[in-house]
Amino acid sequence: MADSRSARMSRRQAISLLGAGAGIGLFSTVRPGAMPLAAPLQAGGAKAVTFPRGAIIRTIVKDLQPEALANGTTLFHEHLDGVYSRDTRQLKLPPPSQQDIAPVIADIKETMKAGVVCIVDGGHPDMGTNYDHLRQISAATGLHVVCSGGYYLQNTYPAEISTMSEDQIAESLVKEAAAGRYGAYGEIGDMPGEADFTADERKVYRAVGKAHARNNLPIFTHNNYGTGPNVPREIALRQLEVYESVGVNPQRIAIGHMCSLPGRNPDIIKALGKRGAWVGIDRVRGDEKADEDRVALILAFLEAGYGNRLLLSSDTRRDYNKVARFARQLQAAGVGEATLHTILVDNPRRFLAFVPRSA
Ligand SMILES: [Zn+2]
Repeated sequence: MADSRSARMSRRQAISLLGAGAGIGLFSTVRPGAMPLAAPLQAGGAKAVTFPRGAIIRTIVKDLQPEALANGTTLFHEHLDGVYSRDTRQLKLPPPSQQDIAPVIADIKETMKAGVVCIVDGGHPDMGTNYDHLRQISAATGLHVVCSGGYYLQNTYPAEISTMSEDQIAESLVKEAAAGRYGAYGEIGDMPGEADFTADERKVYRAVGKAHARNNLPIFTHNNYGTGPNVPREIALRQLEVYESVGVNPQRIAIGHMCSLPGRNPDIIKALGKRGAWVGIDRVRGDEKADEDRVALILAFLEAGYGNRLLLSSDTRRDYNKVARFARQLQAAGVGEATLHTILVDNPRRFLAFVPRSA
């Protein structure tokens, strides 16, 4: 696989890249509001990215060669549709969203001007996602849309989850993925404020891992950092461990919301990187003040040599330019063009690319 640990950026290389981009022109020639995130950047030491033979990225419309996303940014965790509540136990699936998608289409047209070519929608049926809306959004804009599936967290589960076995849930997730052209399982999460997963959440994680074993789709998670004092620092590592317990390779998992862990201590993200998992800094705001800790976390992660385990997104429902603005902050902090290209363009397509297995 292209993303073995030996391919990890060395500390020396990361630091030299950190210094390489200050003041040069990734964004400098562009008019405000239309910043190309990803001009082709072969200079500056970017390594050619390789993929396993037969790997594809599955959008809601078609299967793409990974090269199809080589010239733009991919956002690995946003929301294009769906409404849901985490506050009441819903016990049955909500009806698919009927929201007006026109404002989302307008926002996406803006973000495509800024160089975004693909967005992964992190919703699924228990979050009210209307997959027809995702197809309509893709058709109206030309954006590559990767849809995902699974279950969100205990309060959104339909009642039958508690009586179904792990294998039954896995079976239905495999069928849904094939029928619905899922390109990933996500976002798969746990309840706000809780000290550990519920028994059903653990069962869902394991079922998602077992479905992955059959169809090889990548997995991304939601965790409950920032939702109260009971949440342990190591909950992200526990998520990884549950997936590993059913044989999922950490390189196929993105642990999300790592920037919601308060503070700037990079210990947990470094531990995830060391084990080969993807680290999602996926709630960026594109606001200098609000993102101070995120920038510091990322610099520490890059200095530790994990530039090719990092994924950025904003987990938002409107204004998909937050990552574009955030990239400018990283650049101002000294992150070089080649490193930005790795983070914005190459990492997400490496995460999403998979060799389909017939289940
Ligand atoms: Zn989300």
